[in-house]
Amino acid sequence: MKKNKKMLWSIFALFIVLILIIAIGWYKNQAVFTTQTKTNARLSSSDQNQTSEKSSSSKSSVRSSTSTSTSSSSSSDLPQAHQSDWDLIIVNKNNPKGELNPPLAQVDGKDVNARIAQAAAAFLAAAKSIDPDEHFISGYRSVAYQSQLYNMYVAQEMSGDGTVNSTGKEISKAQAIQNVNTYSQPAGMSEHNTGLAIDMSTVDSLNASDPTVVQKVMAIAPHYGFILHFQKGMEASTGVDYEDWHYRYVGVENATYMTAHHLSLEQYVALLPK
Ligand SMILES: [Zn+2]
Repeated sequence: MKKNKKMLWSIFALFIVLILIIAIGWYKNQAVFTTQTKTNARLSSSDQNQTSEKSSSSKSSVRSSTSTSTSSSSSSDLPQAHQSDWDLIIVNKNNPKGELNPPLAQVDGKDVNARIAQAAAAFLAAAKSIDPDEHFISGYRSVAYQSQLYNMYVAQEMSGDGTVNSTGKEISKAQAIQNVNTYSQPAGMSEHNTGLAIDMSTVDSLNASDPTVVQKVMAIAPHYGFILHFQKGMEASTGVDYEDWHYRYVGVENATYMTAHHLSLEQYVALLPK
């Protein structure tokens, strides 16, 4: 009987120990789980912080870039124009184009791009009020016609009956081409192909118009959307020597900006987005 009691006691003690072990184990698990949850929570909250930091930093970078672009455009007043705008097309030795076939309208007996007919007529009228002899010499020229014109100039230079070689003495074709390139462009490289260029002068000879009149006409040109394209000191960017009669339509806002900042069309377009 005593033995039985002892056994019961020891079973009871073992049972208690077992319960304790289980209880401790459970408690430990609980503790680990709680810590993990807490860590997870901390991690996720730090993730959120990072994300919110990222989003706030990206927001602020967007904000700063927006404010930069706003401030730069507002400080420079650069028009909201693009390189691809129809009135900013560049046709020259570096940007040759095939026949553009622009829609045409006649002003002062010359073909011009129909989109600038009104502006061209208004500009001519204003120029005539400065000097009644102002008239259009040329407007739109097709690539085919430009080719004929260019070849004729080359032949004249070769024979000594040209604009540069007026000596009456024959020169080589290579030399003649060099001469012609100072006042005419090979086919596909003249902006007369766009119908946006107009040769206007009081006379029919190059650079022979009264410089005072040229200055006055040049000054009013931006009001009608035109610039004197090949100005003195801009030869490096335009690739063409000074021409006192070659006006180019670019739109009022662009013309005003270019004139105010003394930029050639080529320099101006380089500042614009595509
Ligand atoms: Zn011209």
